[in-house]
Amino acid sequence: MSAYPCINIHLDTITQNTKNLVTTCQSHGITPAGVTKLACAYPEVGQAILDGGIYLLADSRIANLIKLHHLDAKKMLLRIPAISEADDVVHYADVSLNSELVTLEALSNEAIKQHKSHQVIIMHDLGDLREGAFYEEETLALSRKAIALPGIDLVGLGTNLACYGGVEPTAANQNQLITIAKKIETEHQIKLQYLSGASSAGLQLMLNGDLPQGINQLRLGASILMGIGLNDDRVPNTRQDTFDLTAEIVEIKVKPSVPVNSTALDAFGIKPEFIDRGLRRRAICAIGKQDVDIDQITPKDSNIIVIGGSSDHLILDIDDSKIDYSIGSLVEFELSYGGVLQCMTSEYITKRFISSTSVKELLC
Ligand SMILES: *Cc1c(COP(=O)(O)O)cnc(C)c1O
Repeated sequence: MSAYPCINIHLDTITQNTKNLVTTCQSHGITPAGVTKLACAYPEVGQAILDGGIYLLADSRIANLIKLHHLDAKKMLLRIPAISEADDVVHYADVSLNSELVTLEALSNEAIKQHKSHQVIIMHDLGDLREGAFYEEETLALSRKAIALPGIDLVGLGTNLACYGGVEPTAANQNQLITIAKKIETEHQIKLQYLSGASSAGLQLMLNGDLPQGINQLRLGASILMGIGLNDDRVPNTRQDTFDLTAEIVEIKVKPSVPVNSTALDAFGIKPEFIDRGLRRRAICAIGKQDVDIDQITPKDSNIIVIGGSSDHLILDIDDSKIDYSIGSLVEFELSYGGVLQCMTSEYITKRFISSTSVKELLC
């Protein structure tokens, strides 16, 4: 068991981001869902989001919702369920996003078996070309069948944008969703509880005042957990310093910057290239590509140059640094979205949950 490498998760900052986003969303008629998948649904993170005033937690994976089961919140499954997991979906998710009749039938059968009612949101594709029917008639037909199924409660209409096709949420595409929702409501004399218009990618439209009235849910992950939205732009009133990474130095040597007689390929089959900076003081950190793609991490000490790495080693040029590193020193890194995702997923990285009142470590 070792403490490093370690991803530090700043729970109070996540809670503060949530609070600020909930307040802003409320003033635009939106009740956000909190998406936990970036943090692999560690319950500490789920609780930090709930502490910020969210009541609905959402994740792509049923395995992640199982981790959140004991938390006092409503749970929503984001990825279209697999038929093979229908029993868990009905058991662990209160609501799921759906696009296939056979799957709804499987959920219906399970709901009856478990003496439950399972809520569903039907997904419509507004051009991003991931989940949901692209043609309005198909979505209307699926809604009809969903309403007729026992054990299934149609509670909303949703869409996903800016994920696969890079289609931005706009007033026009959001209005299209509202139009279809109204047709469903009129035909069946029901009121849909959720009109789920977008992910964090919809926040800018909302902040501009251009999200049409009727959309009442955004599914917020990246904005809550990292303060970023569409195109990874910073979201106003949020902080980005929610996660960082600490690695330990295991070697420091002065060496030439270009290998002697370099002809072979590196461990990843790539012909390595080198910049000749002369003799330099170099450090090796005990972290490598098996832990995280090193392009996704940036040293906080801006005088460090990341030279490269292999599966288990990260090589840094520390020659220009003002800090006197030694063996056992810790180096801190900022993380991109992909970097956080990999570090949270890796079994080789310690998770350190930090709040003003406690620090809890899950050692790797
Ligand atoms: C991941 C996901 C979200 C959250 O996206 P963020 O960009 O992290 O806010 C919302 N909806 C669906 C369907 C998702 O898969």
